[in-house]
Amino acid sequence: AGFDLKDPTLLHHQCLINGQWRDAISGEQLEVTNPASGAVLTSVAYAGADETQQAIDAAAAALPDWRALTARSRAAILRRWFELMLQHKDDLARIMTLEQGKPLAEASGEIVYAASYLEWYAEEAKRLYGEIIPSPAKDRRLMVLRQPVGVCAAITPWNFPAAMITRKVGPALAAGCTMVVKPSELTPLSALALGELALRAGVPPGVFNLVVGEAASIGKTLTDSPVVRKLSFTGSTGVGRKLMAQSAPTIKKLSLELGGNAPFIVFDDADLDAAVAGAVASKYRNAGQTCVCTNRFLVQAGVYDAFAAKLTQAVQALKVGNGLEAGVEQGPLINKEAVNKVSALLEDACSQGAKIVLGGKPHPLGGLWFSPTVVTDVTDTMRLFSEEIFGPVSSLIRFETEEQAISLANDTIFGLASYLYSRDAARIWRVSEALEYGMVGINTGLISTEVAPFGGIKQSGQGREGSHHGLDDYTELKYLAWAN
Ligand code: ADP
Repeated sequence: AGFDLKDPTLLHHQCLINGQWRDAISGEQLEVTNPASGAVLTSVAYAGADETQQAIDAAAAALPDWRALTARSRAAILRRWFELMLQHKDDLARIMTLEQGKPLAEASGEIVYAASYLEWYAEEAKRLYGEIIPSPAKDRRLMVLRQPVGVCAAITPWNFPAAMITRKVGPALAAGCTMVVKPSELTPLSALALGELALRAGVPPGVFNLVVGEAASIGKTLTDSPVVRKLSFTGSTGVGRKLMAQSAPTIKKLSLELGGNAPFIVFDDADLDAAVAGAVASKYRNAGQTCVCTNRFLVQAGVYDAFAAKLTQAVQALKVGNGLEAGVEQGPLINKEAVNKVSALLEDACSQGAKIVLGGKPHPLGGLWFSPTVVTDVTDTMRLFSEEIFGPVSSLIRFETEEQAISLANDTIFGLASYLYSRDAARIWRVSEALEYGMVGINTGLISTEVAPFGGIKQSGQGREGSHHGLDDYTELKYLAWAN
């Protein structure tokens, strides 16, 4: 009820295993709620270990035929899936906003972004080149083949309910792997709609499976299985550590896209208006709930007050509300724990001398809304400095020298995204090289694209998604020494 879709058959409530929609064996159901109202949208199957094992078996059975298709045939199917996503963009965006809360325009943007991974890897599928190595001996020829890893698993989060799936499934299927995906239990409907479109695109049974349900037992079944050769996970560093440990006994290949603590460095010579625009885009997108959202604004003393004033003015103008309403720029947070965490981080900062310039508390709308917030005088002893906020809070830290900025920026266990604003080419080069991060946005707050390698270093994870490098993570090298 209330979904109001042009194509209601996009809504599914069961797991997708071996090309069939299946209930949980136990018959258990899970309620899916709308974070904007708390209302129950619908219920979906709540599966566990047994259904996961069925999905692994299906993926293993489907592997030989899928792997044996020509790259061109796999590419054609991925391409159809991409086109179907665009055709159904409006419905997919609506489903996402209803279960996740992000503004409809952002949801729509995510569908286009998510689809772009299917398009890109449909193209890359055809370019999985091997190599011939000049031989050190006359009697032999040396060659390298690139073969699919095999059955892969993916565990994905709620903040990008569509893109985090296609970013893994696109390269996996392109390479000739089959996959079992466990989407977040908070946003299963977006995942299941992708499953429906995969079937319509002609993805064969067992090649792409979706198991919705109890996270720990599904995760354990996936990691324990020797048939599953690789796990790709996007989520918190804590769960990532656990899955990495669980994957040790079977020596699984891993791609981990974990938490971040992105610095956004504004130097005295920056274009301040551009920096403020970039700051708002990087911080308040998805209400601050992305792993590349700015977590710490490091601002040089000469422009600190001016930047704080301009940023506050821009943030004050953000329209907060239900993501389905026109013009809304910030929706609710995902759940009560998220609201509580943001409040606790701000309390900690204020008790140590930080100043709230704007917001700082739950929004008058109530529910799961939090007011867009700006805090100044943040220091490195506060939790805001070291923990991922995942909420609409800009925390400003003052610095004097370039060395100090680099040292503050790198003073974290994380290393995902970073940003810097400057007009001095030499400084941009120096600082970009010194930042211990997988990605650096220079004079921009938006860096994600399917054509570039997304990923982190340090405890933000390993592996890269997107670009031609993203395909490498789903292939194994096989060396052939061919003697005459
Ligand atoms: P987030 O902060 O994005 O919610 P999580 O790491 O909690 O990050 O969740 C990301 C994904 O990991 C979700 O699909 C969630 O269900 C899953 N997950 C959480 N705990 C476990 C676990 N113990 N084993 C496997 N998956 C898990």
